[in-house]
Amino acid sequence: MIRAEGPITVEHFMALCNEHFYASRDPLGAAGDFTTAPEISQMFGEIVGAALADCWLRAGAPADAVYVELGPGRGTLAADALRALATAGLQPSVHFIETSPVLRAEQAKRVPDAHWHRTLDGLPAAPALFVANEFFDALPIRQWVGDEERRVAIVNNALSFTLHGPIREDSPARASAAAAIAGHLSTHGGVALIIDYGHARSADGDTLQAVRGHAFGDVLADPGEQDLTAHVDFEALAKAAAIGGVSVAPLVTQGEWLERLGIQVRATGLVDAHPERSPEIAAAAGRLTASDAMGDLFKVLAVHAADWPRPAGLE
Ligand code: SAH
Repeated sequence: MIRAEGPITVEHFMALCNEHFYASRDPLGAAGDFTTAPEISQMFGEIVGAALADCWLRAGAPADAVYVELGPGRGTLAADALRALATAGLQPSVHFIETSPVLRAEQAKRVPDAHWHRTLDGLPAAPALFVANEFFDALPIRQWVGDEERRVAIVNNALSFTLHGPIREDSPARASAAAAIAGHLSTHGGVALIIDYGHARSADGDTLQAVRGHAFGDVLADPGEQDLTAHVDFEALAKAAAIGGVSVAPLVTQGEWLERLGIQVRATGLVDAHPERSPEIAAAAGRLTASDAMGDLFKVLAVHAADWPRPAGLE
């Protein structure tokens, strides 16, 4: 395409690469390319489910509430969260926003009754419990040098970025996904938990990265064979979500949030039930919460309808 039509934007490049990457494999887990929080421990999805259950109960336990997850990976988080929701008395209909056929098949193994969608357009007109873990980082970003948009070109038979200088990033794809969630919350009620890696305040810099086999790679190497992500700008995401009267809670780090919601209590409970797994459970809790692991880099953004309560652990 670049040879025939000329350089394409970073946004277009990232979208095409990731579409191929996710459509052609299950990249999650030790044998794959990267590991996410729900794949580290069931505690993560259970706490997400418990936070949603608490919020749903305080909202008056509307019986028609649905569970909606964006980019559910293997469906592990959903399976763990749905167990926690069932304990609270909710067995919601489940809606997955997922484009990858390979990952849809994985999700169906763990949540067979789910309904699949490519976008948020077809969701039922009902209050929704939204979850997005490491979804926004995979949506394409644009890069700018001054007023000029950065592109990927071919120079001497190799892919190469155009424009050099201080880089600024933005992401219409992320803003429109956040606005779609907020629009649903505003019209039908509900709450959203958005968890990802990124920064609390907008800042300049090039954060585009490639990961394959648990190691960083050259962003332009082997297009479509590596996971391309960029830091989530939570300030921009919060702005995009603050529409239609919905409320955005103060941002909190993943480590702080999991501690406030009792991850250590849950870890103790799991160790009591499986004493032989004690070292593994302690290591998982550490990986999810420690500041030199996922605890500080990952953050939790909650958005809720004006007449829904704020989820616990966010103030
Ligand atoms: N939430 C999971 C997986 C994160 S990987 C976990 O925490 O383990 C990113 C997920 O988003 C994958 O399921 C991928 O297929 C999906 N995805 C990426 N881009 C997407 C898009 N544009 N639309 C829908 N899903 C997308």
